[in-house]
Amino acid sequence: MCYQVAIIGAGVVGSLLARELTRYDLSVALVEAREDVATGASAANSAIVHGGFDPVPGTLKAKLNVRGLEMMPAVAEELGVHYKNNGSLVLAFSEEEMQTVRELYERGLANGAPGLSVLDRDELRALEPNVSENAVGALCSETAGIICPYGLTIAAAGNAIDNGADLYLSSPVTAIRKENGVFVLTAGGKEIRAEYVVNAAGVYADEIAKLIGDASFTIRPRKGEYLLFDQTEGKLCGHTLFQVPSAVGKGILVTPTVDGNLLIGPTSVFIDDKENRETSADGLDYVRSTALRSVKSLNFKQVITSFTGIRAVPDGEDFIIRFSEKDPHFLHLAGIESPGLSSSPAIAEYAVELLGNAGLQLKANPKFCGERRPYSWFKDLPADKKNEVIAVDPRFGHIICRCEKVTEGEIVEAIHRAPEARTLDAVKRRVRATMGRCQGGFCSPLITELLSSERNVAPETICKHKAGSNLLIGKTKGGDRND
Ligand SMILES: Cc1cc2nc3c(=O)[nH]c(=O)nc-3n(C[C@H](O)[C@H](O)[C@H](O)COP(=O)(O)OP(=O)(O)OC[C@H]3O[C@@H](n4cnc5c(N)ncnc54)[C@H](O)[C@@H]3O)c2cc1C
Repeated sequence: MCYQVAIIGAGVVGSLLARELTRYDLSVALVEAREDVATGASAANSAIVHGGFDPVPGTLKAKLNVRGLEMMPAVAEELGVHYKNNGSLVLAFSEEEMQTVRELYERGLANGAPGLSVLDRDELRALEPNVSENAVGALCSETAGIICPYGLTIAAAGNAIDNGADLYLSSPVTAIRKENGVFVLTAGGKEIRAEYVVNAAGVYADEIAKLIGDASFTIRPRKGEYLLFDQTEGKLCGHTLFQVPSAVGKGILVTPTVDGNLLIGPTSVFIDDKENRETSADGLDYVRSTALRSVKSLNFKQVITSFTGIRAVPDGEDFIIRFSEKDPHFLHLAGIESPGLSSSPAIAEYAVELLGNAGLQLKANPKFCGERRPYSWFKDLPADKKNEVIAVDPRFGHIICRCEKVTEGEIVEAIHRAPEARTLDAVKRRVRATMGRCQGGFCSPLITELLSSERNVAPETICKHKAGSNLLIGKTKGGDRND
């Protein structure tokens, strides 16, 4: 078979594009190197839907951020993804920084960003009483929001599959050739044929480009380290609190997450290894000390984990969204650093427009349904509904993850609904089990057992996130646990 479109990379960009393409009568392949979708930058970032004031006017970043901001609430609603319009503030700590705040305001207006205003000290403190008294004012974006980025990616890929796209996991694209006018991708021992190819490979997009002889850009990995606090701290601020940005990024933020935690970070350091997701003592010290500038009452005893995300930084300042000079049917969606998450629905929409202009037939798919039921839903039901569900299936009355209150019923449902959910982290990203204060200390063994029994595989084969990260190495001296 020959697909009309093959997308390389199942991050938020590739997955939303796959979904967007299934609105049309097209055959679509989503080809992902890893064992699951949403494992790259789309799994580890600040999760902010930016207000559109930061990108330079006239750039794709500016245009697509503002359009993505407009689209995101409806996309999240359709896909059953947690999203909150909490607003953001860029804090200024001096008159000089207030000048930058005013420049950002003007820039936002030039970009067409809605809901912006400049606040003085009193207005700021009325909105956010826990902000440091050293802050003298702020830029407020009423329309900015927070979202679950991996939830969005998983739901987008799932909805694309529901609408007929094929997902190929564990399929790293290692070679691309053209045969009789169509692309042939070598991907994890398979050959996938397609008329059009879209390069959405994140930090590896330059290496994918080189597979067709296109060395027109390079992507450098830039690391961002974070600390995540328990949900006890999630109400310390309502808005996302930025500091005035610098040349290397938007600085250290303090923000509630859409699931009720508090997040601080990220650092911004170029690295050589695109896979280096280690956190460092120096990096996390910097995050702590800089976040304290914004909120002095941060309680670091409530930190439950740290993590690193890797930005895909292009040579230029803008997203690289264009056809390759080597082939007019090979579209790059590359260098999608921040605000890539915010822009992602708009990038998908724009990519479809570009593909259509390049000759891809866009005939509406009458069977397309853009809605998708969320994975984790039981906790939010009223008590009487919970009882009804438990009466039908008692596994919903059995809590597996005590911190996040995730039931056995939801975990089993996720395992069966998502064939790609084969690892502990795949279950975690779908239902939030292990994401609470104990970080899986209690529930990891129980989820491992469920994965093993529901998939009918030995527990020793269950991995944390990728091949080789097995959770168990064999039986102890006592032998079988049922002995
Ligand atoms: C620290 C940090 C903070 C950020 N904060 C924000 C924010 O608050 N708001 C915002 O809007 N944006 C933010 N971003 C940017 C945002 O996360 C990215 O723009 C977005 O996730 C990019 O999505 P993607 O699909 O292009 O890349 P990815 O999510 O990295 O996906 C690329 C996929 O391609 C796959 N792949 C790679 N090579 C191959 C191959 N050879 N074959 C098959 N598949 C392959 C990878 O495995 C991966 O799954 C942040 C990014 C970082 C790192």
